[in-house]
Amino acid sequence: MSETNTFSMDMSIWIFVIATIFVGSSATYTKGSSRIPDVYEAITYNLDLNFPEDVFTDNGRRFSGKVMITLKLKEVPDHIILHADKNYITIQNITFNDLALPQDYYEVDIETQVLKIKTPYSLEPHLNHHILINYEGLVEDNDLFGLYKSSYTDENGNKSYFLASQFPPFYARRVFPCFDEPSFKSVFYVTIQGPGKMQILFNTDKHSEEDVDYGRSKIIHFEPTEKIPLYTLGFQILDFNCTKTEGTQIPQFRVCSRKTTDSTRNFTLDIGPKLLGYYSNFTDYDYCNMMGNKNCYKMDVVAIPDYFSGGLENWGMVSGRETDILYDPKLSSEKNKQRVAQTLAHEFSHQWFGNLVTMKWWSELYLSEGFGTYFEYFGLEELFPDWKMETHFVTEQMHNALQEDASESTLALKSISDTRDDIVAKFSPISYSKGAAVLRMVRYFLGSQRFRAGLRSYIQKYKYSSVTSKDLMQALGAEMDKKFCIAPADFQTVMENWINEPGYPIINVKLPEDLVTISQKSCLSSGEKAKVKWYVPITYTTSQDKNEFDTKPRLWLTPNEYYPTVAKLPGGNSWIILNNNQIGEC
Ligand SMILES: [Zn+2]
Repeated sequence: MSETNTFSMDMSIWIFVIATIFVGSSATYTKGSSRIPDVYEAITYNLDLNFPEDVFTDNGRRFSGKVMITLKLKEVPDHIILHADKNYITIQNITFNDLALPQDYYEVDIETQVLKIKTPYSLEPHLNHHILINYEGLVEDNDLFGLYKSSYTDENGNKSYFLASQFPPFYARRVFPCFDEPSFKSVFYVTIQGPGKMQILFNTDKHSEEDVDYGRSKIIHFEPTEKIPLYTLGFQILDFNCTKTEGTQIPQFRVCSRKTTDSTRNFTLDIGPKLLGYYSNFTDYDYCNMMGNKNCYKMDVVAIPDYFSGGLENWGMVSGRETDILYDPKLSSEKNKQRVAQTLAHEFSHQWFGNLVTMKWWSELYLSEGFGTYFEYFGLEELFPDWKMETHFVTEQMHNALQEDASESTLALKSISDTRDDIVAKFSPISYSKGAAVLRMVRYFLGSQRFRAGLRSYIQKYKYSSVTSKDLMQALGAEMDKKFCIAPADFQTVMENWINEPGYPIINVKLPEDLVTISQKSCLSSGEKAKVKWYVPITYTTSQDKNEFDTKPRLWLTPNEYYPTVAKLPGGNSWIILNNNQIGEC
């Protein structure tokens, strides 16, 4: 190579962020806001829902609800602020610490979906206060959010109605008045009354059951939850069969689906407990302990004919579309089998990354969905090595992220999400695919063992609580070995622009006189965003070393450096390939 050649490539290595301090909700409620003031230190719900028979017919939608919320205050607010969607919930009365409140002491704003309760006297902090709300609810029959009604044709050709739930990101407030934000982790005591012949499923196991009207109806009291994020709650009432595994490490693993799909549960029953075992080992936090020190915690997987998400990570009750949860060896393709495994790998990983450790706010949704997407591939490495899931990751997720992130409207992994529209916009390939790609880059430049060690300490330190990017970065950064990855700055500095800025670097490579030099520019072309530069781990192989599988960085491109020399090629037919395997490990 004697002439100067110039080419550019997408730098499909990704790193991570260092977040600025999370600005959460303040202690005072701002009129017109839908955010809950940060004044609560503990919240427990006793929720009682009663679904009459006619909910499971053509027209019935009404149910009755009663919720007792017990809370402690860090600071005394002027009002108690929580969420309720007036289109679905009609409040009948509210009692505050055993005092019945006049109707002008509470109001629901239909726009902000805020329920504002005036307290009858000055409150004391750090004491328990009880709010009892009786209400009438409506199940949804027009979309697949909140608690909705749908139907299918059963084994006898009859229409069979069922109820299923989809709460993320802000639909629990359609079902009961609540603090509908991810950082308000709470304990739930739930009782549900429904038809005697149907399955009534919840996040926890049944504690006790009462027959009503000689079996026509039944009341199920469920075991209490641990402190869990509200959006991971789930309720299902359906005329399904459930099949349970025998003799596995997870003794209470069940798959529930329509009665006509009895023969398609085996693959899910086979790999489900193995995947939970994999994550228990990977995180060093056993799934059995998810609900504290009770007996080993159960997992139900519920395959629903009509569901918005391919899969949903309800705590202990993963739900999803039939096609994403069940594999029929007689009818389904190998690709479908892989899809089912990926759905389970994704949703089960959330039991740790998302449920046990939760992002404080939707602005950092990648802290949940980046992990879910990452493990959708890498959670299957041990179980299905022949599938070579990493190659699928590059084509399906990384390239998807590169395409999305090159649009001028792209968002950073961490971006402001004040309104409900902002929150919905976070459910994009940036949070999922870019989040996963950046995690993958970190894995390779830290080294796989150090990456896992960082995640183990992250889970251990923040279990049952909520986090920001800063917490994840500190846990991973503590494992960085600069001798190994030759990083030119501390981990937080390296990661900052990957998390807080949109776009990614395009790396230009120049070959003047066989001297290889590189530079970077943003994939975005206009405004301040186009000026951003990143710390980029550089891997390469040449015609001399032919080591294309070495993913340890050989140098770093820094934001302030221009055209550093990468290598000197000996001339002739020599060559260089940068970004080995589109990975970037150090
Ligand atoms: Zn997910």
